[in-house]
Amino acid sequence: MPNKVERQNISDNAAWEIIEDAFSPGENCRRETLFFLGNGYLGTRGTFEEGLKASNIQSVEGTYVNGFFESSPITYGEKAYGFASHTQTMLNLPNGKAIRIFLANDEEFNLLTGKIIDYRRILDLRRGTLTRTVTWESPRGRRVRIIWKRLVSMQRQHIMALQCSIMPLNFNGRIKVISGMDAAISNLPADHEDPRVGSGFGDRGFSLEEDMQKGLTVAFRLRTENSNMSLACAMTHDLEILDDCRASRLLPAYAIKKDDLLEVHCEAELIQDSTLVLRKYLSYVDASAAAKPLNTLLPLAVDLAEQARLDGFSTLCREQENYLQNFWQHAQVVIDGDPAALEGLRLNMFHLLQSAGRDGRTSISAKGLSGQGYGGHYFWEAEIYMLPFFLHNCPAIARGLLECRYKMLDKARERARQMAHPKGALFPWRSINGEECSAFFEAGTAQYHINADIALAIRTYVDSTADYEFLRSYGAEIVFETARLWADLGTFSPNKGGRFCLNEVTGPDEYTALVNNNFYTNLMAREHLWYAADTAAWLRRNHAQHYRDLAARLKLQDEEISFWRQAADNMYIPYNGELRVHPQDDTFLDKKVWDFTSTPADHYPLLLHYHPLVIYRHQVCKQADVVLALFLLGNRFSLEEKRNDFDYYEPLTTHDSSLSPAIFSVMASELGYYDKAYRYFYSSARMDLDDLYKNTDSGIHAANMAGSWLALVYGFAGMRIYEGTLSFRPYLPAGWKHYSFRIIFRGRLLEVIIAAAHVTYRLLAGEPLLFDHYDTRIELSEGQFTVTMPNRIGSCATTSEQEAATIREARE
Ligand code: BGC
Repeated sequence: MPNKVERQNISDNAAWEIIEDAFSPGENCRRETLFFLGNGYLGTRGTFEEGLKASNIQSVEGTYVNGFFESSPITYGEKAYGFASHTQTMLNLPNGKAIRIFLANDEEFNLLTGKIIDYRRILDLRRGTLTRTVTWESPRGRRVRIIWKRLVSMQRQHIMALQCSIMPLNFNGRIKVISGMDAAISNLPADHEDPRVGSGFGDRGFSLEEDMQKGLTVAFRLRTENSNMSLACAMTHDLEILDDCRASRLLPAYAIKKDDLLEVHCEAELIQDSTLVLRKYLSYVDASAAAKPLNTLLPLAVDLAEQARLDGFSTLCREQENYLQNFWQHAQVVIDGDPAALEGLRLNMFHLLQSAGRDGRTSISAKGLSGQGYGGHYFWEAEIYMLPFFLHNCPAIARGLLECRYKMLDKARERARQMAHPKGALFPWRSINGEECSAFFEAGTAQYHINADIALAIRTYVDSTADYEFLRSYGAEIVFETARLWADLGTFSPNKGGRFCLNEVTGPDEYTALVNNNFYTNLMAREHLWYAADTAAWLRRNHAQHYRDLAARLKLQDEEISFWRQAADNMYIPYNGELRVHPQDDTFLDKKVWDFTSTPADHYPLLLHYHPLVIYRHQVCKQADVVLALFLLGNRFSLEEKRNDFDYYEPLTTHDSSLSPAIFSVMASELGYYDKAYRYFYSSARMDLDDLYKNTDSGIHAANMAGSWLALVYGFAGMRIYEGTLSFRPYLPAGWKHYSFRIIFRGRLLEVIIAAAHVTYRLLAGEPLLFDHYDTRIELSEGQFTVTMPNRIGSCATTSEQEAATIREARE
């Protein structure tokens, strides 16, 4: 080890805390998503402990366990063979955050009544806590200060903890606190107008099988009907009075059950300025995580909650801070001169960390663990957008995401058979447990590119970590099985000069469906087939016996592997010489260009205002498709080709998918469109903070969150990894003084600091590292672990500082 990770004192506090300083129910509800807390297993929305109920307020309660779902039949008006039969819904679980507070027994604390003297909520990104401080005066003039603090433990998979401190400011009297575990909950029903919202259930989706109440501890065990999953949740408490003159006292507390609600009632006689502190420790454990017999599930949940109580709230807070300190040491990002962008970026990184499964059984859903949008399903973005973020910040999580795909492989094999492929595996477009859940096959199952996305993610993972053990044990099998689908799906078409064509698929752009030779799909499939053949050769060379066993198990023949290479070498890649662009597919250029000038602003996103056929008949893109391929496989194209394609597709793209702006930012950076790169980046960085897509209430846009990091690291800093070689082509966005970030690459921790005149690379940990700065090869080693190079582009030339400030102001 040449040197150690440096512990930096980061002083720009502002961008470490997301602050809400007013009570305004509409806004507070929107922040239920932004203020969610999670640890990749357990997630809970940032709702108020006492609830927020009024007819005009859309508060959505939600506590979720990653991978815990109920399934239900999909109802089709007309069904055809092979349609997905069931959907899966990540379930809303019993709400253990509930705390109701009564003053002098007769007045219930409720922010919708009385008077709010002060109010503040803070999501602390360094401590991993959500704190709310309120001074409130009841309708009868009793004044209290209440401070709530909560966390979902990053170090203890099953644990959430809350602390509530109540201080009477102008009276002596009785304070009653009712702490609840409420199982009378429901899921957000599907919104038939908007396919992105809600889930398959309006009701609860589970039945209660067991409960217990003892002292200050209560627990439920529940089970789902169709998916047959079981989970137990428990809560326990401790109480304390902080009182200098010792005149306050606690009264006996007790637990009771009222229908589907378990409650612990606590009371205290408080004198003015003393404080009653209630701490509650919650655990959620599902049977597959516990891997224990069902009858031990509830006691296990109780034990876990009890252990947390014994260790205490402050221990949990300390553990949380340590965990996050370690995360930020490795994932540190600084932007000097743009706190608003930095705030968005850090929040995005924090939420990604909170959302990703880490147990090799679960992945990361489109909305993380922050809401019920898209039913809690995993899509392709887990691999294409989010995996690179984890790869360079916490590689163990990246590996877990890929292991989760390995766990789904048998179901993907079954799906391939349903889709008439005699061999191989087809991953579901959207799913929790590996079964296809997409009811709209045109923009679902038809997106076969998911197979190549996963295979390429494996390649990227292995290239960036050198984890060949993963490739040998899991990766190779996934790559072979998924490659088989292309071999079966494609054909050498005489009509295309004998080239290998992939017909009737949908690419990433969901505004065009069921096409022949989607550019992205063909290109990614080509790469996938090459990689599969190379991996077979590598395995045979380095692990001959393992290869023989695997090949025998998969009945993989040498001829099949030769065919992969032949198909890849002859893959048809659409190109139009006259326009000098890559058509998105065989018919894209024949279509009418969408009439953007006559489309009213309130008709976006188009998917909510036009029948899919109307959209499909036009040249209009929901998201990056060709442009995404140019980024992911950028070494296959010249700068001129990239520019031509970007210039062609950008005006046709609505960015109705939140997955789009970040990719356009990356490519705009590469092409020197610096203003655009910044604008796309900025909207990506603050998309959820500013609710730019007006649907943050149903959950974060997790793929975009990773995209904003990509836009900084791959965009502004021009990082690429081709053929295992790391390279940078950095520049400084206008108005920024400098920016820096850290990445993990092959066990090294590298810090990159970009200023207008120079770029500094610091090897903070690990073996010597070779990489390219523009076209100069650099080696950092024990002897020389810092190098400063001239910044070739410098501060981006086309935007003045003044202009950049105006852009930011306009966005703020
Ligand atoms: C996008 C898909 C994405 C899905 C879930 C859709 O709007 O078009 O690419 O996988 O959202 O995030």
